[in-house]
Amino acid sequence: DRLVAGASHGEEERIDHAIRPRALGDYIGQPQVREQLDIFITAARQRSDSLDHTLIFGPPGLGKTTLAHIIAAEMGVDIKSTSGPVLEKAGDLAAMLTNLQPGDVLFIDEIHRLSSAVEEVLYPAMEDYQLDIMIGEGPAARSIKLDLPRFTLVGATTRAGLLTAPLRDRFGIVQRLEFYAIDELTHIVNRSAALMGFDSDHEGAVEVARRARGTPRIANRLLRRVRDFAQVKGDGRLTAEIADRALNMLHVDRHGLDHMDRRLLLTMIEKFDGGPVGVESLAAAISEERDTIEDVLEPYLIQQGFMLRTARGRMVTRLAWQHFGLSPGDDVPD
Ligand code: ADP
Repeated sequence: DRLVAGASHGEEERIDHAIRPRALGDYIGQPQVREQLDIFITAARQRSDSLDHTLIFGPPGLGKTTLAHIIAAEMGVDIKSTSGPVLEKAGDLAAMLTNLQPGDVLFIDEIHRLSSAVEEVLYPAMEDYQLDIMIGEGPAARSIKLDLPRFTLVGATTRAGLLTAPLRDRFGIVQRLEFYAIDELTHIVNRSAALMGFDSDHEGAVEVARRARGTPRIANRLLRRVRDFAQVKGDGRLTAEIADRALNMLHVDRHGLDHMDRRLLLTMIEKFDGGPVGVESLAAAISEERDTIEDVLEPYLIQQGFMLRTARGRMVTRLAWQHFGLSPGDDVPD
């Protein structure tokens, strides 16, 4: 299992639940997102209105789901959650919509994966709070219209560009989450450690933060593994030395790259001479889904300057060659 990706389950879900921030004030980092949402939420509350439909986009693990829950909590309403792939038929969405109370948040994760039939039902619901749906087939088919309560749709997606234009246009608020800075992640690690009852010093928290790929979910996940290591190999405290040893054992390198990141970069260097290479060829070469490369792997590698996306394909930078102790040719980009 990859340490830095994938959904949480079991024990992890339980701890996740306990450390998930519940109020905007506990949400660390993303200052612009927090400031804007604070204003929009306060204004909507003062008018006793529902919040405008909100689209949140950003790579996995940056806090989209957390933010959706915080929006509901701050608005003082309930949240009902679902996701694009789960809503297979128009009726699935209709069932969710007719179950909403006035003001409720309907959270749709992976909203870019809605089928067009389901999207068609969503448009009038978002715009006019109207459910307009065909039931039955053939001569017995009839259309029914229902009034829905005012509600707030919160949609989450990894990339805004994946949404159809008509869907994107129906969101009044659009927020983009960025990778977190080391000091923000340090804050998150310290907070999580305290909630887990894991005694930590500042340098230890920084070491975990530095290797968390700018992502709170990864920071929390690494923290749990470091806690195990500290318990068995140390005195139970999080120090820089314990974090370093634990993360080396897990093959998370000093830049937070794991074996998948290294495999992607090394494949580009060794098989494609550093690129440019198309994403499909790359996906085939490392036996990964194209989506995994585009959503999970490359955003951080691009942000950190290890690779570039050019019109001719992906290319690795000098930094990537140097990261592996290789000397880049003269034509390798910075
Ligand atoms: P996404 O929906 O974007 O994949 P989540 O909202 O599930 O990400 O966040 C992953 C985990 O990271 C959550 O369990 C939460 O505890 C933590 N987290 C995310 N954002 C923050 C934040 N801004 N401050 C503190 N913890 C956060």
